[in-house]
Amino acid sequence: MSGAIDSLGARLRSVQEKIADAATAVNRDPSEITLIVVTKFHPSSLIRDLAALGVRDIGENRHPEAGNKFDELSDLDLTWHFIGQLQTKKARQVARYADVIHGIDRVGLVDALSPIERRIDCFVQVNLTSDPGRGGVQPLEMPQLIERVIETPSLNLRGLMAVAPLDEEPRSAFARLRELSELATTIAPGATDISAGMTGDFVDAIAEGATHLRIGTAITGNRP
Ligand SMILES: *Cc1c(COP(=O)(O)O)cnc(C)c1O
Repeated sequence: MSGAIDSLGARLRSVQEKIADAATAVNRDPSEITLIVVTKFHPSSLIRDLAALGVRDIGENRHPEAGNKFDELSDLDLTWHFIGQLQTKKARQVARYADVIHGIDRVGLVDALSPIERRIDCFVQVNLTSDPGRGGVQPLEMPQLIERVIETPSLNLRGLMAVAPLDEEPRSAFARLRELSELATTIAPGATDISAGMTGDFVDAIAEGATHLRIGTAITGNRP
């Protein structure tokens, strides 16, 4: 076990160093960047090891897997990020344990979350491709969705979230995301955060202003 946590710690430190280097290379302060470690498919024991290494932000993308881990680890002080596609009928169940929901991509989901008893942070997911199957609201429809979120007292809009397209350089896609983020802040001045960047593209995301990175494989190793 201690051998496993040693190598987990080594991978975590290596990613943290790369984040710091990428931030300073573009004159950004690394402390303004939140690293969310994505633990989907991994057991809750891995999250416990990550917590022992100082990780506080955990990303999960499947319900009920995420909720079961939350219950098993209720003794730890963690921030739970729900980063996946969220079905309307599961929204209220996810809101029981998620502190942050990254995939607000349609009005129906906003409406499903509007009656919840607590205030929850969220990101509006934008689609950087023309393929509707990739998830996220199309940029032209984003302003309307943002209006709807900021009218909803149970939701606190932090900013925008996106996944890089498969058929484009991530840097140019993230540059569009940054422009959309500027547009979003004209509607919701507090919504300045950008959730972007995974194992393969987080350096590009940092260069284009990402404030929240969602990194799995580079830290956890391959998913079981
Ligand atoms: C799985 C996942 C990640 C992490 O991906 P890695 O390539 O393992 O870093 C990030 N964002 C979302 C939405 C994911 O589903």
